[in-house]
Amino acid sequence: MTANVPEGSTAAATDIWQAVFQSLSNNLSRDQIQTWFHRVCAIDYDGQSLTLAVPSEFHRNWILENYSNSISSSLQFVLGVPIDLKISIDPEKAILGSSPLQKPLENKDNRTIPAISKPPVPAPPVRENISNREPLLRDSSFQLSLNPNYTFDNFVVGPCNRFAYAGAMGVSENPAKAYNPLFLHGSVGLGKTHLLQGVCYELLRRKPTTRILFLSCETFTNHFIAALEKGALEEFRRRYRSVDILVVDDIHFLANKERTQEEFFHTFNALFQDEKQIVLSSDSPAQEIPTLQERLISRFKWGLEAEIEKPCFETRIAILQRKARTMDVSIPDEIVQFLAEHITNNIRELEGAINRVVGYAALQRETVSLDLVRRIMPEIDTDRTTVVRFEDVAAVVSKKFHLKILDLQSRRRHQSIAFPRQVAMYLSRRHTKHSLEEIGAYYGGRDHTTVLYAIDKITDVVRTDANIRETVNSLADDLSRSFPRGVH
Ligand code: ADP
Ligand code: MG
Repeated sequence: MTANVPEGSTAAATDIWQAVFQSLSNNLSRDQIQTWFHRVCAIDYDGQSLTLAVPSEFHRNWILENYSNSISSSLQFVLGVPIDLKISIDPEKAILGSSPLQKPLENKDNRTIPAISKPPVPAPPVRENISNREPLLRDSSFQLSLNPNYTFDNFVVGPCNRFAYAGAMGVSENPAKAYNPLFLHGSVGLGKTHLLQGVCYELLRRKPTTRILFLSCETFTNHFIAALEKGALEEFRRRYRSVDILVVDDIHFLANKERTQEEFFHTFNALFQDEKQIVLSSDSPAQEIPTLQERLISRFKWGLEAEIEKPCFETRIAILQRKARTMDVSIPDEIVQFLAEHITNNIRELEGAINRVVGYAALQRETVSLDLVRRIMPEIDTDRTTVVRFEDVAAVVSKKFHLKILDLQSRRRHQSIAFPRQVAMYLSRRHTKHSLEEIGAYYGGRDHTTVLYAIDKITDVVRTDANIRETVNSLADDLSRSFPRGVH
């Protein structure tokens, strides 16, 4: 079979991959296809080579070691001539792009998300307790206590969390097959615990006998210490290693806990080798967790790492409206707008604010008005807050490196400019409310992958180079001093 396909387009790449995928499906087992080709997406074909995107380095190495011959011969079969195979690591494209196995659904704002089947039945009831399902989990410390609100259905998806949400869905659909581990990170109050519990609910909905262990890293640590003291390590290990899914919230709690890290490393390996799913959340990327062993950092990156960012204005509005609907109250649009404009960092605070307003109004028998909101929450009034802007970051960075702001915004790539620009992008990400796209646009119309690269690079050098760490920290201090409320 020889396909006649135009060169140089994603569409051509998709067509070729579709045919190659079909041919692979005829020769490999369903499990192999599901595990290794489910999240692969073709992104380019230039006549000489086909480029695929995969979710992780681990995924790429596995395909190269085990399936490159099959793919190459399928390619030759499809195109009639041999062409090269290139594989790039791009979790966003791999997960959000199309796969012949699972056609994506169009989302409201025209970006694609993986095909997700909506739950036909409601989420499990309050305080699901799985202890009676499995003798292993009968111990009271292993009861699965979930917040009944933390379901996928109650999770508002926006640009800030879409990738993490898609990853969580992927894991629920294909535990231990899609991504292992799933590592979600982001600062407090942005929905990590909600998504983690959403995974638990969805897994139980799909397969009620799934043995899930959901716990905080602090609980893991306490169990471990108790087991050490009682000399009951064998039992501890047997329990932790006999589950289908281990979900550990706030894994950054491993910081500075050498023995617990050691134990967690072995738990991780045992589960991973047994093809059991591991899901983790952290308030910072793995490499920024103080003293976290390199081998854990690298394992945490084996699967899918997804950041939950601060919600944009539209998402904040949607969350407030959802919350008001759940509480069965009607809140005037101007108040929803006011709250969304002023509480920008944290979804928990956003929820707290609406609870406070509704609670106070009910207690005082007052109607909810802007005046009431201003009275009970003077701290969020406009005039008292300060916002770090792009210009502020660019000003401190250009001063430090003796450059003009225009240099930072130029297309020039000389190291003396490129490096300060990367520092400015890194600081913009941490100190302003802007998205990767907006930061890229400000710094010379670059795209979000360039910004991501800059952030990764500076994160890395800050860890390894004391001089740069000092420079970057002092710039961050300058920003915090000038704008004491930090990110607004
Ligand atoms: P984290 O674990 O990141 O600190 P949580 O998961 O505890 O944050 O979320 C804080 C609160 O905000 C919870 O009540 C949660 O339900 C809510 N929340 C967070 N993200 C969303 C979202 N996208 N949609 C709806 N509610 C959300
Ligand atoms: Mg949490």
